[in-house]
Amino acid sequence: MKKFTLSFLLVASAIVSAFAQFTEDKPKLVVGIIVDQMKYDYISRYWDNFGEDGFKKLVDEGYFVRNGQYNYAPTVTGPGHASVYSGTSPAYHSIVNNHFYDREKGKSVYCVDDDRYTTVGADTKNGKKSPYRLAVTNLSDELKWASNFRSKVYTVSIKDRSAVLPAGHRADGAYWLDDKTGNWISSSFYMENLPEWIEKMNNAKKRPIDQYLKSTWELSLPADRYTASTEDSTAYESLFPGKSEPTFPYDIKKGVAADRVRAKSGRKYDIIKGTPYGNTVVTEMAINILDNEGLGQDNFTDLLGVSYSSTDYAGHAYGPQSMEVEDMYIKLDGEIATLIKSLDEKVGEGNYVIFLTADHAGAQNAGFMRDRMNFEAVNIKSKEDTKVIDAYLSEKFGEGKYVASNYSGQLYLDRNLIAEKKLDLEEVQAATAEAFMTMPQYAAAILGKDLERNEYTLGYKGLIYNGFNPRYSPDVYGVLKSHNVDYGKGGTTHFSPYRYDTHVPIMFYGWKIESGYTHAPHTITEIAPTICSFLNMNYPSGCYSDPIIIPLEDED
Ligand SMILES: [Zn+2]
Repeated sequence: MKKFTLSFLLVASAIVSAFAQFTEDKPKLVVGIIVDQMKYDYISRYWDNFGEDGFKKLVDEGYFVRNGQYNYAPTVTGPGHASVYSGTSPAYHSIVNNHFYDREKGKSVYCVDDDRYTTVGADTKNGKKSPYRLAVTNLSDELKWASNFRSKVYTVSIKDRSAVLPAGHRADGAYWLDDKTGNWISSSFYMENLPEWIEKMNNAKKRPIDQYLKSTWELSLPADRYTASTEDSTAYESLFPGKSEPTFPYDIKKGVAADRVRAKSGRKYDIIKGTPYGNTVVTEMAINILDNEGLGQDNFTDLLGVSYSSTDYAGHAYGPQSMEVEDMYIKLDGEIATLIKSLDEKVGEGNYVIFLTADHAGAQNAGFMRDRMNFEAVNIKSKEDTKVIDAYLSEKFGEGKYVASNYSGQLYLDRNLIAEKKLDLEEVQAATAEAFMTMPQYAAAILGKDLERNEYTLGYKGLIYNGFNPRYSPDVYGVLKSHNVDYGKGGTTHFSPYRYDTHVPIMFYGWKIESGYTHAPHTITEIAPTICSFLNMNYPSGCYSDPIIIPLEDED
């Protein structure tokens, strides 16, 4: 009997301790890092110029998914941030583009604009934002729920949408940069007033951002170390304000003085976004949030979303082959090292987990493709293509402006006009697809109706299918041929379902994650369920992916 009791107790205590381990053994803090427009190959191309404590540490000591892909199009920032945190794509979460035509409102809308709210932290309109268009829960929401609202959730970025969409619907704070005042601001959706510590920072006499506005962007290394890039001055780059050539150094103070466009709109601090200092202010704010809000200090896992966007501004301005982009990443590598060091000090090594990915990758510059790759690539202008389509439809159905909105081939028809003219919507849609195919720059034209009726899983049809939301998506998709871009001559863009826009790094680091890598196919919608799985949590409501199987230390 005694023996029985003893063994019973042993078994019982084993169960209790296993369960305690199951519930308590989780990271105290999740740090989600999104690098705007980071192409997968930047890790290998710039490897020799990185330090030991940034990207190299994440790759060498963490788990690196080498075949990480966006599984939908359009590949742009709003949908990217929404998808990473919700584990699903625009078909489910409704953030179909940064700006898109809202048929119910009869106008183009911005993905996080919300007139019901006001700016907190400045006397400007830049804070009138909310995540109300995000039609599913995300990782941040589920974390709040799982801890009965005891987990803290904060996000920071210089772009509003890159802070708002990761933050979900119940965040304690989402902060972004006000380009008129240089303040960190938020929306009254989250809070009535900024915390005192941010007010203090915003009102300080000597703010770092004002120093940066007087600084110069110089190369981090001798110019001959930038072997992954072209020469400094090419025809494939656009010009920084006040410069006659796209060359280092970049005198920001002179840029501000020469920049009439920004001066006129009062957006003085906007210039910072396109320099490495735009990333520096984000690291500074992230560390300030860690300190002042005490993240990762108790058993209720907190979340800090950090989105670096200056990489995107540099990509757009100079293109992926430029020394500017290479230097941007060398400096970002330093920012990541600073952030990791700070996390080690404040939260403790092993107590936090980082995931790092991008919101999309990016195309090569079209001129570079023509001149240096012998590849027929063109710069298109949506407005010109809209004229061709309107003319084609007018010939067929009578004079009219049939196109309500068209950006990069995402075409919305004026359904009111079609109803007025008593035309058959599907006939007009089919004719629109024909019109796209009269233009040689397009590879294909896909009907929204076909995406409603069929399920596509392969190639660009599969990606467009995952991005298709019947309520908000276009009537017709004109798919540009590979490397044709709706963009100017200098720099580049991203939007397409091609691999150059979809292949991004996915990394996990810290906590119990064993170092390793995989070539297996993975999508960015698998990141959120992976983190949920670490935390023994429910998955976001629209999540259709499963966790990535990552080796953890005490699992054999
Ligand atoms: Zn971009």
